[in-house]
Amino acid sequence: EKMQELCKDMPGVSVEFDGHVPHIGVVKTGCQGICELGPLMRIEPLHYQYVKVQMDDCEEIFKRTVLNKEPVERLFYKKGEDSFPTPDDIPFIAKQTRITLENCGRFDAESLDEYIASGGYNALSKAIFDMSPRDVIEEVDKSGLRGRGGGGFPTGKKWKQVAAHTDVKEHYVVCNGDEGDPGAFMDGSVMEGDPYRLIEGMTIAAYAVNAQDGYIYVRAEYPLSVERLTHAIAQAEEKGLLGDNILGTDFCFHMHINRGAGAFVCGEGSALTASIEGDRGMPRVKPPRTVDQGLWAKPTVLNNVETFANVPGIVMKGADWFRTIGTEGSPGTKTFSITGSIENTGLIEVPMGTTLREMIYDIGGGIKGGGEFKAVQIGGPSGGCLTAEHLDVGLDFDSVKKYDAIMGSGGLVVMDENTCMVEVARFFMSFTQRESCGKCVPCREGTKRMLEILERIVDGKGVIEDLDTLEELAAMVKNMALCGLGKSAPLPVISTLKTFRNEYEEHILDHK
Ligand code: SF4
Repeated sequence: EKMQELCKDMPGVSVEFDGHVPHIGVVKTGCQGICELGPLMRIEPLHYQYVKVQMDDCEEIFKRTVLNKEPVERLFYKKGEDSFPTPDDIPFIAKQTRITLENCGRFDAESLDEYIASGGYNALSKAIFDMSPRDVIEEVDKSGLRGRGGGGFPTGKKWKQVAAHTDVKEHYVVCNGDEGDPGAFMDGSVMEGDPYRLIEGMTIAAYAVNAQDGYIYVRAEYPLSVERLTHAIAQAEEKGLLGDNILGTDFCFHMHINRGAGAFVCGEGSALTASIEGDRGMPRVKPPRTVDQGLWAKPTVLNNVETFANVPGIVMKGADWFRTIGTEGSPGTKTFSITGSIENTGLIEVPMGTTLREMIYDIGGGIKGGGEFKAVQIGGPSGGCLTAEHLDVGLDFDSVKKYDAIMGSGGLVVMDENTCMVEVARFFMSFTQRESCGKCVPCREGTKRMLEILERIVDGKGVIEDLDTLEELAAMVKNMALCGLGKSAPLPVISTLKTFRNEYEEHILDHK
C-alpha cells in the first residue's frame, strides 16, 4: 500500500526500461513461499528480489530502484561478487521444481490476462478442440497423477468411474480446499496465488466427466482465497471460459464457492459433500462411494486443489512429460509447507521421491540455530513421525506408509533435539480428539481415552501399564473408526511409541 501510494503521488513519471516505458505500479501476487525472508518485493523487469522489506524502505526503493534502476544493496538476500541474485538464485527457490506453484508469487493473482499471456487456458482449449473427453481421462490416467489430498488414489481411475455413469445426467466436480491441518497452507497458496490454474483444471475435469456444475469448498480461514476465486470465476465467465457455451461450444460448466465453517472433519469426502448440501458435515459409511453417489447422490469427482492444479500441465505437455518427474509409483511433484525448528520456513514444491534431507537441509537451510534434527511430523495431526533414520528415504505415497506415516496433504513440522515426543503426541491427539465428529464410538471414545492417558503421562502421573493400553487403544481406533480422521488419529502415538518409547518411560519412571 505504501508503494502504491508513492507511485500514485508521482503522476506522469515515465521511466524507460530497455526501450520500453512501462506502467509503474504495484501488483499483489500470491505467496512466493519464502516465509522466513518476508515481506518480499520483486522489482520487474529488473528481476530484483528484495527481502525483509520494511515500511521505511519503500521511499528509497521507489526513488533509487523504480525511478533510477539502482539496487538497494542491503535488501538483497545475499549480494554476489558482481551481481545481485534474482528470485530464482535464492537456494530455497532454485532447488524446487514448481508446477502447481509455477505462477505463485510471480504474477498478478487477479489478472486473467496475465494468466492467459503465460499460456493459461491453452490446456482447456486443447482438451475441448483436440481431444475427446475419453482422451483427456486417458491422458490423466497415463500420467499416473494421484490425489494430492492425502489418499493418493489414482485421479484418472476416479474420473473414469464418474464418466462411466452415462445413465445419470448430473455429474459434479468438487474441489476440496478445506486444508485443515495445523501448519499447512499449500492449497491456500494456490487458491490465492493462481486461482485460474485451479479453475482451468476443474473445467477440464468437468469436460472429461461431463459435469455441469463444480463446487470449491474453501476453508473458513481463507477469506483471500474466496475473494480471488470469486474474482477469477467472474473474469472467466466474462471471457467465455466458464459458464454457458464455453469457447463457443455447447460445453457448459458453472462454478460455485462454498465456505467451510472450520470443522476439520469436513476435509473428509462424504462430510464435505454433506456440508455443501447444507447438512451437518459428518462422514457416512461407504459404499456408496463418492464416484457413484457423491454430491446430491450423483456421480462426483472429488479432488483437492493441488490435484486439479496439476491437470492443465498434464493436458498441455502430456502424460510422458509428467512421468519424467517424481517416481514410478508417484509421478509429478508434491507441495509441502515446512514449519517448526527449521531455518527457512515456507512453502516448497519438489519432485516426489525427494528425500527429507534435501528438503530440510538443502532447501530449508537446516535446523534452526544449528540444532540437531530429531523428527518430522508428516501428514498433519493424524500423520506420523519420521526420524533421522528416514532422512535419506525418498518420500512418496508408498514409501511413507512403510513407516506408519502418511503423506497427507503435505504439512511438515520439523522438530529438534529439544522436542518432547510425548508432548508432540499429546498435542496432535488433543487436536484430533477435539475435531472428532462423534459419530462412531471407536473414534469418539477411543481418542478421548488415549488423550486422557497421554495427559496423565505428560503430567507425570502415568504408570508403565498405560503404554500397553495406549497401544491397544491405538490399534482399535485405527482398525474400527468409520472415516479417515479416526483411522489415522492414532498414528502420531503409534509412531512415537515405536521410536521414542524411552521418552514415554522416562516421563513415567522419573516421577516415581
Ligand atoms: Fe466422526 Fe471420528 Fe467416526 Fe470419523 S472416525 S465419523 S470423525 S467419530
